[in-house]
Amino acid sequence: MNNKYYGKLIFEHSRQGRVGYSLPENNYPAECAMQLPEEQKRQSGTLLPETDELTVVRHYTNMSNNNFGVDTGFYPLGSCTMKYNPKINEELAQLPELNIHPQTPVDAAQGCLGIYYQTQQMLSEIAGMSEFTLNPYAGAHGELTGLMVIRRYHEHNGDGARVKVLVPDSAHGTNPASAAVCGLQVVQVKSLPDGTVDVDDLKTHLGPDVAAMMMTNPNTLGIFERRIPEIARLVHECGALMYYDGANLNPMLGVCRPGDMGFDVMHINLHKTFSTPHGGGGPGSGPVGVRKGLEDFLPSPRVIKSEYGYGLDYGKESLGSISYHLSNFAVITRAYCYLLSLGKENIPMAGKLSVLNANYIKERLKDYYQLPIDGLCKHEFVFDGLRAEYGGDHHDDGHVTTLDVAKRLLDYGFHAPTIYFPLLFHEALMIEPTETESKDTLDEFIGVMQKIAVEARDEREMVRTAPHTTPVRRLDDVKAVKEPHFTFKAFQS
Ligand SMILES: *Cc1c(COP(=O)(O)O)cnc(C)c1O
Repeated sequence: MNNKYYGKLIFEHSRQGRVGYSLPENNYPAECAMQLPEEQKRQSGTLLPETDELTVVRHYTNMSNNNFGVDTGFYPLGSCTMKYNPKINEELAQLPELNIHPQTPVDAAQGCLGIYYQTQQMLSEIAGMSEFTLNPYAGAHGELTGLMVIRRYHEHNGDGARVKVLVPDSAHGTNPASAAVCGLQVVQVKSLPDGTVDVDDLKTHLGPDVAAMMMTNPNTLGIFERRIPEIARLVHECGALMYYDGANLNPMLGVCRPGDMGFDVMHINLHKTFSTPHGGGGPGSGPVGVRKGLEDFLPSPRVIKSEYGYGLDYGKESLGSISYHLSNFAVITRAYCYLLSLGKENIPMAGKLSVLNANYIKERLKDYYQLPIDGLCKHEFVFDGLRAEYGGDHHDDGHVTTLDVAKRLLDYGFHAPTIYFPLLFHEALMIEPTETESKDTLDEFIGVMQKIAVEARDEREMVRTAPHTTPVRRLDDVKAVKEPHFTFKAFQS
């Protein structure tokens, strides 16, 4: 890590007059330059670094290594399924045969439409739904699309007065946001101390103005909602529909299906569970599935199969177009390859291992970190900071916080887990290892987390001032996102 290129600007390597290239002689007659309008001519010299080629190569190669990703280290990002995406899926998604023009006529795009259709079918089977659309671009876009389907369904039934969406207080922030963007009113449903939905509170909100109940299961605390059948019955009895946030479908894969639990509409994040690298707002896909009877309301076009082959359907009940052409096709190809390479017989292993790995870490760390909700978790779980005997006593002003632990992890080469979410706990630290990590990696992580707890007890200041080995120390978390420095100019003032 500590070589002379680390954390430097390319300008710091600049030496006047040094070049890494040679250009052919300028053979253009002088009149060419004369024809440029005066105001377009450069008035002063350029400010460019002057270096040799090898310095440039080393500079950028070293800079690329400053970036942390799942390819460089463990990334236990609870609530976000940041798992390894097999490289073969990347290669296949880049095949020239699969990168066709979006306006290729249907007859000439049968192969790609086949991939699209078969992915719809496989997702339907995994989720227990009747049909999927792959049109939405991301999870939040899927939520919006799913809620639009629900609205359309109620309007179709002459039931347009249903304007409320019930959302548990443990939900991912996109749930209430999507409901609001869809023009619906958000009503919060309370959680019980064990993190699951408070059914008695839910009952007080049910009525003829409710359009849907949105749920995440396992919820964002990693807890399986055991009372789903009862909740589904209550919601359906009042005429509303059940929406399932399946952004993190990992623990469910091949084990249980939202459709069987009584959900009517749902979305999946292909860029979390089905092999597309994500983060930084990169391309995503948030397919939406519906149970039987709701297919016609899906956005158009729908990819269908008939005796003539694959085709596009623009049904008249459809809520219309929500994306350009058929959306992010390369993301869909990756999911298709991932599903086929695992195969029906191996998919359940992914679900079970993701649950086993999370429970293994939880059990081995709960003597060091506060575990507010004990018992079996699914793919992720939440600690509420360090235990009091390890410097985590909230009543002590100088206690070691979750932020301190997260920063110290960087010194050991691990990405921090999700912190301060969900909002139910002051010092939330949410861990999701995923199924792709080996036991050795999990053991290393556990060892480091235990070591940090001991450091927090014995060398408190050192942990409170971490990280110590990264190119930059503690950043302003808000400004780092809102005012990122993309060019050298930011460093010039
Ligand atoms: C990530 C996530 C979403 C939102 O997905 P985006 O693709 O980021 O829009 C919604 N719900 C849950 C539970 C999530 O983890």
